Amino acid sequence: MPVVFDYARCGNPTRACLERTLASMEQANYAFACSSGMAAHVTVMNLLSRGDHVLCVDDVYGGTQRYLRKILQPNADIEISMHDFSDIKEFKKSIRPNTKLCWLETPTNPTLKVFDIKKIAEALKGTGILLVVDNTFATPVNTNPLLLGADIVSHSLTKYVGGHSDVIAGGLMLNSKELYDRLYFVLKTMGTGLSAFDSWIVIRGSKTLAVRVKQAEKTAMAAAKFLASHKKVQKLVYPGLKSHPGYEIHKSQSKGPGAMISLFLKGGLKEACAFLENLKIFTLAESLGGVESLAEHPATMTHASVPAEQRKILGIDDNFVRLSVGIEDTEDLLADLANALSKV
Ligand code: PLP
Repeated sequence: MPVVFDYARCGNPTRACLERTLASMEQANYAFACSSGMAAHVTVMNLLSRGDHVLCVDDVYGGTQRYLRKILQPNADIEISMHDFSDIKEFKKSIRPNTKLCWLETPTNPTLKVFDIKKIAEALKGTGILLVVDNTFATPVNTNPLLLGADIVSHSLTKYVGGHSDVIAGGLMLNSKELYDRLYFVLKTMGTGLSAFDSWIVIRGSKTLAVRVKQAEKTAMAAAKFLASHKKVQKLVYPGLKSHPGYEIHKSQSKGPGAMISLFLKGGLKEACAFLENLKIFTLAESLGGVESLAEHPATMTHASVPAEQRKILGIDDNFVRLSVGIEDTEDLLADLANALSKV
């Protein structure tokens, strides 16, 4: 974090204040506040050179995937491959001689797959491959990937850390001074840093992060239990339920299950639309992690740009609704879900 503020693209005192906060949240030596979650990703990806390979988890935020496939791969001649990282033996086999970066989300957006950060970090030890964990869904309240062996943590601060759906921002946290210098060079050159005013908004939001996450999580657990046994629900995915295949792994690396729920209704697009149209407190919107509860349809919204074959493999089907549980009254939210389901 610069100590001399001679030009605001390179740094400003309010951004530096936020960066100190972000570093402490992830127990990191250094942090950067970026102009969006995607700007944080782009800053990291600019460490790559022509011919390098990025090993990316298969279920990743649609925007990250779009950047990798549509910009980085064709324009910068970077190889991209996407895999399920559950099987560590298979994971090791997917490493190539030119692999420079491994990109991980856990729980993933949108299907909430869970991966073992520690095992993945151990598998990469000594290879020189940087492990980046997008910790947006888990939040720093619940998971600190640097403590589990990651090299860089990335956040869309637009979500839980900002927390009020009124700012677009991103964060990077790390421990290595050498990496810090390389990333700072990219950030100040490309102008991917956050403005002073937006930094101030994120600082204000960050003060209530822990209480917001815990309240939302309490409701999410109640909602997940309610939905899991509902007759109109085909499948319910929530890392806090024992039915989740990654339940034990998530528990071992996270202090809480989070407040994102993947809901698969019996039926298809018609049923998903009827459910979404009848929600009154949950608002139809693409974002997540704010004080207000949101619902969205990944297949036609956040993940519409993911190729149809890939969506099919991942299970991003037409009957899938993603819920971001907010901090409104628990009973009101449960009643809203029950009412919308009754109209399906
Ligand atoms: N990472 C994850 C997991 C996300 O869900 C998003 C956005 O939804 C991003 C990164 C990108 O963040 P931003 O919209 O702040 O650029």
